[in-house]
Amino acid sequence: MIAASMAVLQLACPVPLARAVRTRSISVNTVVSAYSPRHSSNLSTLTTPSPSRASHAADSRVLLGLSEADLQQLALDFGQQKYRGKQLHHLIYQRKVKDIQDFSHLPQAFRNELQNAGWRVGRSPVYQSVTAADGTVKLLIKLEDNRLIETVGIPVPDDKGSMRLTACVSSQVGCPLRCSFCATGKGGFSRNLCPHEIVEQVLAIEEVFKHRVTNVVFMGMGEPMLNLKSVLEAHRCLNKDVQIGQRMITISTVGVPNTIKKLATHKLQSTLAVSLHAPNQKLRETIVPSAKSYPLEAIMKDCRDYFRETSRRVSFEYALLAGVNDAVELAKELAELLHEWGGGYHVNLIPFNPIEGSEYQRPYKKAVMAFAAALESRKITVSVRQTRGLDANAACGQLRNKFQKSPLLSESENVPSQSDIAVAC
Ligand code: SF4
Repeated sequence: MIAASMAVLQLACPVPLARAVRTRSISVNTVVSAYSPRHSSNLSTLTTPSPSRASHAADSRVLLGLSEADLQQLALDFGQQKYRGKQLHHLIYQRKVKDIQDFSHLPQAFRNELQNAGWRVGRSPVYQSVTAADGTVKLLIKLEDNRLIETVGIPVPDDKGSMRLTACVSSQVGCPLRCSFCATGKGGFSRNLCPHEIVEQVLAIEEVFKHRVTNVVFMGMGEPMLNLKSVLEAHRCLNKDVQIGQRMITISTVGVPNTIKKLATHKLQSTLAVSLHAPNQKLRETIVPSAKSYPLEAIMKDCRDYFRETSRRVSFEYALLAGVNDAVELAKELAELLHEWGGGYHVNLIPFNPIEGSEYQRPYKKAVMAFAAALESRKITVSVRQTRGLDANAACGQLRNKFQKSPLLSESENVPSQSDIAVAC
C-alpha cells in the first residue's frame, strides 16, 4: 500500500517476514482461490483429488472468505441441506470458530467430510503480540507457508463512552515499492495475500480486543493496488460477512497506474487514501521511487475522476519528514495543486514515525502546526494524525524487521521459486 505508506507510518502496520516456504503447487493454489461452490457441484472432485494434488488440496480449501451463498452451495455439494451453509456462515463470521471440528452445530459426519476433503477454516496463529502504552496492539500472524505478516489494532475511545477499534491490515507479504521512509519497503517483497489472509487479520484483532472492529484501513504492509483482486474480495467479505460498513473501510495507495480508475468502476462507498508526500513530481520521486511511472498530474486527474464517479472525498496522506517536505512553502504549493484539481479532498498530515536506520527525522511540532495552518488558511481541510504505538514499533514494517533482519526468508528453510511468489491467490 502506498498511501498506506504513510498511514503505515503512523497508524501502524505491518510486515512480515518470511520464513520458510514450503514448496507449493501453483495449480493447486489456483484451484483454491478460484473455488466457488457454485461451480463445483461434483462432490467426487472434492473428495477424491488426484494423488499428486491430494496433499496440496488440504492447503487450499479455505472457508473464510466465502459468502453465505457460497457456503450454502458447499453444503449442497456435500449432500447436506442448504441451511447448513447458513450455519457455517454463522460459525465462521459470528462465532468466529477456528476449527472445523469445533463446529458443534453441524453433524460430526459433515465435519469429518469437510476435513477429509481438505477444507479448513483458514485462521492462522498469532506468532507475536506487542502492546504499546497507548493500547495499540501489533500482531505478527504466521501464515500457512510460515511467512509472517503484521497487523495492528488501534483503539480510540469515542465521545459516547464506547470505543472505535481500527484494524490496519496488510495486503502483501512485504512490498516491492520501496518508499524511502518505509520499513516494509526496506524488507523486500515476498507474495500477495489471499483474501482470507486479509480478512483473518481483522478477526485476529477482534479476538485480542474482545471487541468488534469498527474501521479497517488497508495501510499495513504492501501496496493494496498491486493486489487489487484480493483486496476487493476481502473488502466484500468484510462488508457483507463480517458486517463492517463500507464507509468504515479505507483503501490506500501510493499510486499504481490505472488502478485508481479501475477501483472507481466498483463505486465503493469506501475512502480512497492516496499517499502524496510532496506537492511536485521532482520532490515526490525522491520520496516515492515508484512515482516515476505515475506522474503527479495523472494521479490528480484519476483522483478527481474517482471523486466524480463515487462522490467520495479522496484523502491525501502527507508524511512530514523534517527538512525534506515540511516547509511552509511546500504547504502553499500543495494548496495550489489541490485547488487546481477541484474539491473533494482532505489532507492528512502524518508526522514521520522514526524507524531504525532511516535517514529521515521526525519534524518539530512547530513545523507541523505551521504546515497545517498554511493549508487551512488556503481553505484546504486538513487534520494532523496522532502517532500511535511509538513504543511498540508501530510504523509499517518495524515489528517484522525486529523479528527478521533478513527480509522475508529464514536461512534454514526452502526458498520459494518466482512462480510460487507469483501464484498467491
Ligand atoms: S514501500 Fe510499500 S508498504 Fe511501504 S509505504 Fe511504500 S507502498 Fe506502502
